[in-house]
Amino acid sequence: MTSIQHNLQQVRERITAAAEGCGRDPQQITLLAVSKTKPVSAIREAWLAGQRCFGENYVQEGVDKIALTTDLDGLEWHFIGPLQSNKSRLVAGHFDWCHTLDRQKLAQRLNDQRPPQSDPLNVLIQVNISDEASKSGISVAEIPQLARQIVALPRLKLRGLMAIPAPSDDYQSRLAVCLRMAEAFAALQSEHAGIDTLSLGMSDDMDAAIEAGSTMVRIGSAIFGARQYPPSSPQ
Ligand SMILES: *Cc1c(COP(=O)(O)O)cnc(C)c1O
Repeated sequence: MTSIQHNLQQVRERITAAAEGCGRDPQQITLLAVSKTKPVSAIREAWLAGQRCFGENYVQEGVDKIALTTDLDGLEWHFIGPLQSNKSRLVAGHFDWCHTLDRQKLAQRLNDQRPPQSDPLNVLIQVNISDEASKSGISVAEIPQLARQIVALPRLKLRGLMAIPAPSDDYQSRLAVCLRMAEAFAALQSEHAGIDTLSLGMSDDMDAAIEAGSTMVRIGSAIFGARQYPPSSPQ
């Protein structure tokens, strides 16, 4: 077994244990393998081990990898990085999901640029749940208005919320932040149909995220190993 296959198996076991530990069905939690900075060979290895959903942070890097893996059946590509408006066409044209929608103008562009032959683009509203000045995402109070704007766009499909909580060493404070997201998610579900995805939890905070109700954990280093180099240019 290769190390990626071994790591994937361990991460799946961790998800199962975390879910069962709080009485949830592990099947409710999708594992998104974050392959940023990792080569296509790593994606192929993960695919051979049954992994189908992959996340990329940098638009051009993701588009290149998508083009190099069209022979792999069943892949689902998620864009999870900050998105500048001038890169929206590439995301609309190539990805299945965008997790980082945080403004009406970007929603309109993605809608207008989604190719007619493709299914509507699945989108998540990014929430700045830890209120960090440097992080992207909107406040919880701003969710209802942006959600209403998104659901009016026919080429987008609003699926839920995403957040990147500030790192914390303490389980209880991680859980508290994740529970605030779960509350915002439940409120959104009560307003709109088809809201089924709470993208929350990374390698270091996935247990608290799952306890709070995450339905999608985004795991990079625990599957592919530490990232050795920063990407050459932020996009
Ligand atoms: C890199 C990244 C991840 C994965 O982080 P790891 O710590 O490697 O698991 C998840 N979500 C986002 C938005 C990321 O940028």
